[in-house]
This record gives sequence, structure tokens and C-alpha cells, in this order.
Amino acid sequence: MKKLAVALSVVAVAIGCAALARGASRQEAPVTHAYATENLNAVLWVQTSAEYEAATRQAYAFAEMMLDAALADPTWSALTEQEHADFGELPPAVILDVDETVLDNSPNQARQVLDDRDFTTESWHEWVREERARPIPGALAFTRAAAARGIRVFYVTNRRHEVEGPTRRNLAAQGFPLDAGVDTLLTRDEQPEWGGDKGSRRAHVAAGHRVLLQLGDNLGDFVSGVSVDRDARQALVEAHADYWGRRWIMLPNPQYGSWDGALIGFQFGLDREAKRARKLGALETLREVSDE
Ligand SMILES: [Mg+2]
Repeated sequence: MKKLAVALSVVAVAIGCAALARGASRQEAPVTHAYATENLNAVLWVQTSAEYEAATRQAYAFAEMMLDAALADPTWSALTEQEHADFGELPPAVILDVDETVLDNSPNQARQVLDDRDFTTESWHEWVREERARPIPGALAFTRAAAARGIRVFYVTNRRHEVEGPTRRNLAAQGFPLDAGVDTLLTRDEQPEWGGDKGSRRAHVAAGHRVLLQLGDNLGDFVSGVSVDRDARQALVEAHADYWGRRWIMLPNPQYGSWDGALIGFQFGLDREAKRARKLGALETLREVSDE
């Protein structure tokens, strides 16, 4: 990751110098150029900061500690879908999201910054089919530790079913445990009722397992109905205050997520300027409002 980070820095500096050398072109640069740099700090934080690696390792180390407590307590479940069920005798499992929870796709984000491109499903699938995503720090040790305790590791991802093959190969090549007898990689659209909301897939796992922990980088990895406004999302977090840091472990992802969608009212079809205007409007400055 360091080599990649250094290479990226060199390219970024080179682009910066070239822009300065062009002088007048700085003023004439299209508005869209400014938009492409918006994710620059987020991607660099993930790829180069010691703090990001410390944060993900911290999350996974904590998850492993909670695993033993969860395993020992037959009344423990991490699923709201399991709240009133009789699950005590079911075999234990954990549920992890894939992207930015166990696999690091920041190289694809870096390409978007450098190429001044927004997300498209087509370019995303090109990246997925490269099968080159590397583990999020701490994820490999945690999933292996869970598997070694006889806990089934489920991956519930919004990668679509058409890219399940490359996703499975990528996970396997990096050493992530994949159950030989049971399908533990549950992709979007794999079953007719498995949409972007992961609730139906959580229920599928809950039908045969006691779920000890959930890990993800997105509110939707834990609870349903997250494509709502910021106040409602906040209310979802507060309504599950007892879960965080115990049964639910959140990984940091400053690059993208439903938090980003909420800022634009989930209107992904808006043009860049409209999205940017909404985001600027969401900034809190605590400046005094003048009547003048
Ligand atoms: Mg994710």
C-alpha cells in the first residue's frame, strides 16, 4: 500500500505542478475539475494515513474480543431480525460487509480522482473483475480467528450477483475463509428478494444461525431503511445505541456511502454542480447570521 501511496503522491504533485505551469488555465479550468478533487483527501487518508490503519485494526481487535463474550452467551444475537426468535441452539455466525469492510477498493477511488470520473457500474465491475482488492487491515486476522472458533463467516455484499465469481476469487486469493459446504457470499440479486436493502439477507442467515456480530462501513450493513434524510439516519443510530461497540462494529469510510447519498437526497442523477451545491449547503460554520 505504501508503494502505491508514494506513486500516487508523485502523480498528484506532478498534476499540481502542471496545473500551476499552465497559469491562465487555472482560471479557465472547467468547474467539473474542482469536483474531481473532492475525494482527494478522503482517498489519501485511507491509502496513506497511519490513522486509518490504526482505526481499522482497532475495530477488528475489539470485534475479536467481543466474539468470545458473544460465543459464551446463548442469549446474545447481533440481529434485530432475530430479536424475538428462538436462536440459542443455532450454530454461531458473524456477518461482514465486503467493500471497505474486508476488501480495500481505494485504488478504484484513486483512479476516479486522477481521471476526473464519477462512479459508474460499468467501471466498478471492471475494477471488481481485476480481482486485485487487498484486505482492510485487521480483517483477515479477525475472519480467520472467527473461523478457527467454529464460527461461520458470512459476507453480505451489495456487489451484484453477476460479479460474485471474481469477488469470491478475490476473497479466496487474499486468504479470507469461505465455507466449502454453504454459500456464505450473499450478493445482491442472487435471489429475487435480495435487493440493495440487506434485511432479507440478514433474515436468511438468521434462519439458520445465531449471529454474534455484524461488521460494516455503512449504516445499511446493520439496519434496514437507511436511504432516508440525515435526521432519520441519526435516529436509527440512536435507536440502536446498545448495539454499537458491542454487537455492531463500524469501520471508517470517508470515500463514499449512504451518508454521501443522504447529502443529495439520494438523487444520484443530479449533475455535479447541483450535488456540490447541496454539499456546500450542508456545511456547518456556526457563524453569526448578520441582518445586514
Ligand atoms: Mg461497504
